[in-house]
Amino acid sequence: MNSTECRTRAENVLMHTYGRYPVVLDRGEGVYLYDTDGKKYLDFSAGIGVFALGYKNEAYNDALKAQIDKLLHTSNYYYNEPTLLAAEGLVKASGMDRVFFTNSGTEAVEGAIKLARKYYYKKTGSADSQIIAMEHSFHGRSMGALSVTGKKAYREAFEPLIGGVVFAEFNDLEDVKSKINDKTAAIIMETLQGEGGIYPATKEFIEGVAAICKEKDIVLILDEIQCGMGRTGKMFCYQNYDIQPDIITSAKALGCGVPVGAFAATEKVAAAFEPGDHGTTYGGNPFVTAAVAKVFELFEEQKVLENVKENGAYLYEKLEEFAKETPSVVDHRGFGFMQGLEFDHPVKDIAAKALENGLILIAAGTHTIRFLPPLVMQKEQIDEMMEILKKCI
Ligand SMILES: *Cc1c(COP(=O)(O)O)cnc(C)c1O
Repeated sequence: MNSTECRTRAENVLMHTYGRYPVVLDRGEGVYLYDTDGKKYLDFSAGIGVFALGYKNEAYNDALKAQIDKLLHTSNYYYNEPTLLAAEGLVKASGMDRVFFTNSGTEAVEGAIKLARKYYYKKTGSADSQIIAMEHSFHGRSMGALSVTGKKAYREAFEPLIGGVVFAEFNDLEDVKSKINDKTAAIIMETLQGEGGIYPATKEFIEGVAAICKEKDIVLILDEIQCGMGRTGKMFCYQNYDIQPDIITSAKALGCGVPVGAFAATEKVAAAFEPGDHGTTYGGNPFVTAAVAKVFELFEEQKVLENVKENGAYLYEKLEEFAKETPSVVDHRGFGFMQGLEFDHPVKDIAAKALENGLILIAAGTHTIRFLPPLVMQKEQIDEMMEILKKCI
């Protein structure tokens, strides 16, 4: 099917929820994607932070193929080995005690909110609780996750959402403190805000919040869906700080392409859930957890964290140079393989131009280009990206 026919037919049957670029992607290899016309693209978005190990990773693909021929799905009424191995991998990588697998990031956030509310309910006997969430945050599109997402334009048409959510300014400890009261069950934030424009939490802020949560027995939920799984050079972004969250959420690179998410909690908080409190039909089935288990193995074998540390610093250096010599760049934020360049104008045109020139870039908010490459990206391809980026300004 040619590209025009595919796009025209798709526009007739798919809901108009995305402004898609006029490209029909066909296959991937390493850090490159190819469209149906055979044009090659260097991928600096990794399917929005998903394909950490690169495309057509043989060991990963083989593990999935083997699982397809064994067992795709059972239900959570029975045990299976891939789910166990994936959960052990996540427990080890995160320092959490217990895991619940979901089908997506937004569902992981839903589960985290439910667990925090149940913990508060068990502790106080009251269901009248509040959650403090952050301005400019993004936690997903389902009703609970949307309720804690700090972007009014995403929420407004869908209200009423879940109640008891109070927003505070990210990186403003005093503002968070002023919003805490006896009803505060949880504080939820991304450790490094992604969609909102690539804003890392400052050390004083996140360590301050963690200390208050500990003191007042408030559940600290860190959304690590985008910034976790190696993207900042540690398995989870909060490991860059001296803190211990009570619940974390994960998805995106957790499955490296299969639809899977998870929330994980400390024993103390996880113990609030009893049989019947939460469930899912597909969540964590053997197909997706075979992928997750393999992802944890390959992260070690392929020394993914080492690569992010080394080449994330290289990317930082290159973007910093570029920021200094480009007047329209107003800020450079983030670290590892999660960085952003803020411009003094909307960046939609830059992303479109990059695509024409064989480079996939995505925005974060209206004015920031977000660099979210596969975690196996090398210096040579960072140089290649910089060349194309310069052409697009
Ligand atoms: C992508 C994202 C989500 C939502 O994940 P989905 O799989 O799209 O539901 C939630 N939180 C953060 C921080 C994200 O980046």
